[in-house]
Amino acid sequence: MISPLPRNSFDSALHRNGLEPLRRSPVTTLQINVGLVCNQACHHCHVEAGPTRTETMVLATVERIEELLTSDPEVEVLDLTGGAPELNPHFRRLVQCGRRSGLRIIDRCNLTVLEEPGQEDTAEFLAAHQVEIVASLPCYLQENVDRQRGGGVYEKSISALQNLNRLGYGMPGTGLILNLVYNPGGASLPPPQAELEPSYRRELRSRFGLEFTNLLTLTNMPIRRFADFLTRTGQHSAYLSLLANHFNPATVAELMCRSLLSVGYDGRLYDCDFNQMLALPTSQGRETIWHLDSLQEMVGLPIATGSHCLGCTAGAGSSCSGALA
Ligand code: SF4
Ligand code: SF4
Repeated sequence: MISPLPRNSFDSALHRNGLEPLRRSPVTTLQINVGLVCNQACHHCHVEAGPTRTETMVLATVERIEELLTSDPEVEVLDLTGGAPELNPHFRRLVQCGRRSGLRIIDRCNLTVLEEPGQEDTAEFLAAHQVEIVASLPCYLQENVDRQRGGGVYEKSISALQNLNRLGYGMPGTGLILNLVYNPGGASLPPPQAELEPSYRRELRSRFGLEFTNLLTLTNMPIRRFADFLTRTGQHSAYLSLLANHFNPATVAELMCRSLLSVGYDGRLYDCDFNQMLALPTSQGRETIWHLDSLQEMVGLPIATGSHCLGCTAGAGSSCSGALA
């Protein structure tokens, strides 16, 4: 008799709470990682992006995504991530395809890329196509941002935010959404989103006259560069225990992997960007965008999980759209 595979600690938590198995709902968000090229190399980066990475999505892959999107009745959101998505040569084509299909489009922008040579008109392009910007700013204090994201990043980020405000981003009545992202500087859970947002608003307004739409808080996922940091500093098991001890069953119904499908730069499919970075694929037989006739073939399939998933269910929960509960 074959013994069942041991459960990972996330599945055990689901089991204890009667929440197994985790299965996919209709795909309403298509998140595309267009490549790992980035102008920054942040310490916490879960995709280990940077200026020396060369992996990038090619035109044939973009064209297949366009085919799947154009014929899909359920997808509402096109979520573009990287690396710095704007550095992919087909970024604007994907945005234009999303607009033609009437989708909400999100650009996960690191802000500093907007200050890079060759990107002078990117902010105007984003505004003209009503693209929502989700931008990392892990603190309103320079010291903390530069320590986590690199020297000079804070100054460039503020300059980019001021330019986005000038274009109407984050300003009431314009419809141009500018959400900021906070993640903790170390091995702790983020504070409550609703409590942190007023401090961000007050500080950024008083220091620089800056406006934004909402603050999203994200938990640091114990994978790749952040996992290496935890191991180096002897905090890995303590951090996983922290996540496990704060397992919140109320977050499970809202987990983003239920309704989001993640596509790698090479067209491979994953249940989320974190699984993508761990090379943890979706259900067998549907490994790439070329194995699907429709994105909705994924409905009902089991979601691939691991202990890292505890990062999504700890405390108020965490997702690419911020807290869950
Ligand atoms: S800006 Fe984003 S993608 Fe680039 S290195 Fe930093 S966290 Fe990674
Ligand atoms: S890491 Fe991915 S698969 Fe795991 S719970 Fe979070 S979103 Fe779902």
